[in-house]
Amino acid sequence: MAAKPEAAGTGAGSFNVHPGHAVEGFELRPEGVLAALCSCGVTLDVAAARFRACPGCLGRACLRCAGTGEVVDHDALQWRLPALT
Ligand SMILES: [Zn+2]
Ligand SMILES: [Zn+2]
Repeated sequence: MAAKPEAAGTGAGSFNVHPGHAVEGFELRPEGVLAALCSCGVTLDVAAARFRACPGCLGRACLRCAGTGEVVDHDALQWRLPALT
């Protein structure tokens, strides 16, 4: 794995991040789009949501998948700028 100097920290990967801002998190939108959100409220990038089976799923009480049996497959996501959707 080639580490890029500008991708300091999270390991979350290949979407754009505002310098000096934290990534707020991810939001799954009704149209099946996963959005990466900056702490300043801007949508950084979007990707078609991809899922995989929840690893070590605990069923309805599972904290990873909230009981759905699926988690977002971050390795399979292809991030693109929101303006290109
Ligand atoms: Zn920001
Ligand atoms: Zn689970």
